[in-house]
Amino acid sequence: MEIPKLDHLEKMHGVERVINESGIFKLVSKEFSDKPTKIKLINNVEIGSKKLTIIAGPCAIENKKQLIKTVEYVKKSGATIIRGGAFKPRTSPYSFQGLEKKGLELLERVRQITGLPVITEVMSTEDVKLVAKYTDILQIGTRNMQNFPLLKKVGKIKKPVLLKRGMSATIEEFLLSAEYIYSHGNPNIILCERGIRTFGKMTRNTLDLSIVPLIKQISHLPIIVDPSHATGKRELILPMAKAAIAAGADGIMVEVHTQPEKALVDGNQSLRPSDFSQMMTEIALVAKAVGRTI
Ligand code: PEP
Ligand code: MN
Repeated sequence: MEIPKLDHLEKMHGVERVINESGIFKLVSKEFSDKPTKIKLINNVEIGSKKLTIIAGPCAIENKKQLIKTVEYVKKSGATIIRGGAFKPRTSPYSFQGLEKKGLELLERVRQITGLPVITEVMSTEDVKLVAKYTDILQIGTRNMQNFPLLKKVGKIKKPVLLKRGMSATIEEFLLSAEYIYSHGNPNIILCERGIRTFGKMTRNTLDLSIVPLIKQISHLPIIVDPSHATGKRELILPMAKAAIAAGADGIMVEVHTQPEKALVDGNQSLRPSDFSQMMTEIALVAKAVGRTI
């Protein structure tokens, strides 16, 4: 995109700053701010800085024992943010839907025990206030990336929002959804690539890693990658996590379960605790090679 020269306007008396609004992205673009957005959370966790963000935990919160065991392990291995779904967007109405408020309370307990920030998904406008009370980051899932009333609602709160790419969304649509949140007052947005739907059946989705350097060129927002939902296969998570970091992602989000074969949701794509620590060891080397730390 060619940016027209506007220097002469900036020099005019009474003009503080000139913002080029000719592009379709106004607030999330580099033209608006060329300083990378950094998001500060509790425990000195900062998203978008040199230190990578590692979000880990179960797909769904199933019970207290499962959650605590998993998070203690991932914290020990270097996770910086804990994930756990309380409201689950399931394809079938007969599948486990999540513990809802009880799950949020367990997540709050995890936050107290570990001192780490937590993230969980919000699926409806009615739950935004409730979920925001318990979590440090609100997640908008792939199925809701274009739920505009929900985007507007999370745009009006103070907590950061992690926006997942819609499974059939173009990068323009993805950024315009971020624009919805920003333009309603919330600049603390983390983009998350989680794979898009293509024709292949060997993986759950197709991980579009080219989005990472592309976003770095056109936006100031941080971007992380979720290799769990992108691949659907445990064995593919480690290589894709490494690739994401090599491509310049600000972090990764992975699902971990102490007994994946018994998981109520997404067991096939959940790392065992030992897989997670192995991943941390290996991604540290890639991080170092690209000037980042874990
Ligand atoms: C999740 O992170 O638990 C989830 C449901 O992801 P997605 O919205 O990407 O499918
Ligand atoms: Mn999942």
